[in-house]
Amino acid sequence: MAMMTGKQYIESLRALKPEVYFLGQKIRSIVDEPMFQPHLYGAAMTYELAHHPEYEEIMTATSHLTGERINRFTHVHQRIDDLVKKVRMMRLLGQKTGTCFQRCVGLDGLNAIYVITYDLDRKYGTDYHERFKKYLREVQENDWMPAGAMTDARGDRSLRPSKQKHPGVYLHIKERVKDGIIVSGTKAHITGAINSHEILTMPTRTMTEEDRDYALAFAIPVDTKGVTLVFSRQTNDTRRLDGVLDAGNPKYGIVGGEAVILFKDVFVPWQRVFMAGEADFTTPLVETFAGYHRSNYGGCKVGLADVVIGGSSWIAEAHGIGNASHIVDKLTEMIAMAETCWSCTLACSYEGYQTPSGAYHIHPLLANVTKLNITRMVYEWMRLGQDIAGGKIITLPSEKDLNSPASGPMLEECFSGKDGFPPRDIIKMLRLIENMSVGAGLPEAMHGAGSPAAQKIMIARRSGIEKKTELAQSVAGIRRDGYFEAIVGKEEKAHWNEVRKKIEERKVQIY
Ligand code: SF4
Ligand code: FE
Repeated sequence: MAMMTGKQYIESLRALKPEVYFLGQKIRSIVDEPMFQPHLYGAAMTYELAHHPEYEEIMTATSHLTGERINRFTHVHQRIDDLVKKVRMMRLLGQKTGTCFQRCVGLDGLNAIYVITYDLDRKYGTDYHERFKKYLREVQENDWMPAGAMTDARGDRSLRPSKQKHPGVYLHIKERVKDGIIVSGTKAHITGAINSHEILTMPTRTMTEEDRDYALAFAIPVDTKGVTLVFSRQTNDTRRLDGVLDAGNPKYGIVGGEAVILFKDVFVPWQRVFMAGEADFTTPLVETFAGYHRSNYGGCKVGLADVVIGGSSWIAEAHGIGNASHIVDKLTEMIAMAETCWSCTLACSYEGYQTPSGAYHIHPLLANVTKLNITRMVYEWMRLGQDIAGGKIITLPSEKDLNSPASGPMLEECFSGKDGFPPRDIIKMLRLIENMSVGAGLPEAMHGAGSPAAQKIMIARRSGIEKKTELAQSVAGIRRDGYFEAIVGKEEKAHWNEVRKKIEERKVQIY
């Protein structure tokens, strides 16, 4: 099958029958459910833009498996240029949707599993990598969106997975049978899960030998028997049912439409299993995935920043204060922060490297720095956006009141601005800024791809602090500095003895 368009992607979901619940009700058709539609449209943008010549270079790639043109969201990075184009694609999609377009978690899962199964097979003589390549081919040929499912519910975090009171808080192997494995447990906060074709699981943390049944990676169709998805709540989510204007971003929603995925005695055939018990490969898999995903945040969130900066500037114009120096200053601050994060993600792509599998990985230290900056700067640029937009973003009346004959005409007058800015457009923009800066988007920027503490652990591990200590010792003269000795033409000790002697002689001359 060729690459799907946005419309074809949405239609392709009709063929699937996942077990989805929301607000206590079973959802018959996720495609027709107004609560879900904005998320579907957000993901559909990743398909649609691949068909527009102006974005072809960024949105598509050549498969290293088949030589065919494929959507970049199914591509395993073959060179530095792929890593750079990936984050350009994410900024572009953030700009077009103003929210999470969801498909990156699966993309990063595909890349991370590709890299790690290669290493795993070399150590254990298994054939996970070949199995995975077959699966990847299927993903590319069908242009599937796999939901990357990493985070488990985790229960009591002071206990290891196998010591939990409720074994279901982690996804695990219940039984190994002839043709595959039977799994049970939970994955939580899974972005885009209900509108994905597949679920691609990975372990959530380092596993030890005693947790080997939790060292697990596999892929299954989203409507596999025994899988139940419960769609999560978001701030102001049911505004979508109150009126188009009130939703803020009625087209593409807010964050990724996360879901809890419950697995109950789910059968996974061996050809879809990519790790089953190799606990020593859980850390590399988690870190490789996290590296890819953390670098993304300097792309997608900067795309969102572009939207909120543009919206704040427009609102300031509409309010007649576009040229005020404090507004220009705030907008400039927002731009500088966004471009700082963009520089970080570009740097971790350009500093990427080839792994033994042949696929390219980003620079892990810089990727974690990128994400740590995002956890702070998104709050900061959204704060400035709120500052510029004013208190109206949290006190606007509803669309129903705007349409009411009793209050509507007066409300429209009251929300008018400068000539040429229709009141309803002003309200639309204020609602968009509210949607992006007040709701679920902020904690998502904090915790998506891992919390700040997780980034700090990685930064500390990879910072090379010993090397920095050596540098300081060398500059301070505690450690031998061969380069300095070459410059002065003698050993340091002899050099400083001479210097001291000269200082003494000079003192004698002066006094
Ligand atoms: Fe992609 Fe960003 Fe959404 Fe993660 S938060 S899935 S990187 S758009
Ligand atoms: Fe996310």
